[in-house]
Amino acid sequence: MNKLDKIIQISKNRGFVFPAAEIYGGLKGFYDFGHLGVLLKNKIKKLWLQSVVFKRDDIFLIESSLIGPKKIYEASGHLNNFQDPLVECKQCHQRFRNDHLLKGEYGKIEIKNNKPLCPLCKGQLTEEKQFNLMFKTFAGPVENSAAEVYLRPETAQGIFYNFKHYLNFTRTKLPFGIAQIGKSFRNEITPKNFIFRVREFEQMELEFFTKPKESKQWFNFWVAERYKWFLKLGFNQKNIRQRKYNKKELAHYSTATIDIEYKFPWGWDEVEGIANRTDYDLKNHSQYSQEDLSYFDQTTKKKIIPYVIEPSLGVERLMLAILLEFYNEDTVKEETRNIFKFPPFLAPIEVAVLPLLSNKQNLIKKSQSIYYDIKQNFQAVYDENGSIGKRYRRQDEIGTPFCLTIDFQTLKDDTITVRDRDTTYQERIKINEIKDYLKQKIEINI
Ligand code: ATP
Repeated sequence: MNKLDKIIQISKNRGFVFPAAEIYGGLKGFYDFGHLGVLLKNKIKKLWLQSVVFKRDDIFLIESSLIGPKKIYEASGHLNNFQDPLVECKQCHQRFRNDHLLKGEYGKIEIKNNKPLCPLCKGQLTEEKQFNLMFKTFAGPVENSAAEVYLRPETAQGIFYNFKHYLNFTRTKLPFGIAQIGKSFRNEITPKNFIFRVREFEQMELEFFTKPKESKQWFNFWVAERYKWFLKLGFNQKNIRQRKYNKKELAHYSTATIDIEYKFPWGWDEVEGIANRTDYDLKNHSQYSQEDLSYFDQTTKKKIIPYVIEPSLGVERLMLAILLEFYNEDTVKEETRNIFKFPPFLAPIEVAVLPLLSNKQNLIKKSQSIYYDIKQNFQAVYDENGSIGKRYRRQDEIGTPFCLTIDFQTLKDDTITVRDRDTTYQERIKINEIKDYLKQKIEINI
């Protein structure tokens, strides 16, 4: 079984992530997240907030609406431009993204009369047409064009149309940023590679507004800053790279874009994009809404439309990169174990409390009191089912970095054993020192 399949299997069996609505046959491109998946996503989001928002003074938070009127997307250009090239097989009716098809992403393609054939059944393909990726619905009881609304395809537009509010709320000067974490929706032609390309996902986006003249310098700053963040998360430098877009690849609003890519099993692919979106969005929203979204520059006494630098990434895509990066198999005592070697600050469960198998009431009581105390400060679980070896394996498979075992010696001298997931090394520590020990191992300054 290849690594990706193994991860898909563990994710489902252990409750990280699994197909949505499976009992009804599932829905392609949609996933549900279990307890461990939610904990991991929360850690990712917390680490992004710490790095992008909380360690700085010039970034503010927002949570804007997921559904918006058509006007927003006329102004942003999404209604006209947010589309992918689509072809359909005339024989098996499978649809493909033509650019991905030509790159060989669906396997080797045969060409007949200068035209590619369907990689599945060798049928003829239709001419390419543009397919808009936005989900449309209606707000209210009447389904007419006046009630037409869209699920947002990116969180960014809610930041742009609220720009004026932030100038008022914060009384801040350029440069400053507005950050948002939230769901986005894209009706992808072919969702694939597990949670890499899905139709509903969470984005973490920053729109950092600058004076036009300073935008290049801030673009470089954010590329460097974001790249460093991936290294701090523990990615091996060999698996992370920056890729600059050539002119042809740039989105209609961008003058420069660099992707941070991960070496996925199918090749290098985007995890985060950092774009210079210029003044395109604010200008267009000003024009379409007739609201003045300019900024008054006190030094030059002139109105300007700020430029914006946007680092944007998907939580699920990063989660998949993390699962791939830290998954390992090794052998302990002649037994193969599946193990996620997450850095402790990323682990969904940080510590497991495992009492020695015993029916001695005082041992159970002691174990539970240690567990509930630790649970106040750490993401902890209690497990008394099965042999200690089996319990360690279960924790290894979900990436728990520390297991605490409580035995009869604990009752005598108030010490417990801490077992390290990666080395399996065990040391005895005084109960009253355990929280400091864990804190020091788990905390990260990001
Ligand atoms: P791609 O070329 O892979 O479709 P994109 O360039 O359209 O991505 P952006 O619009 O730059 O993506 O979105 C910013 C980030 O949002 C991406 O780097 C990715 O992490 C995430 N993202 C975008 N589309 C999806 C999707 N369909 N599923 C999961 N994450 C996504």
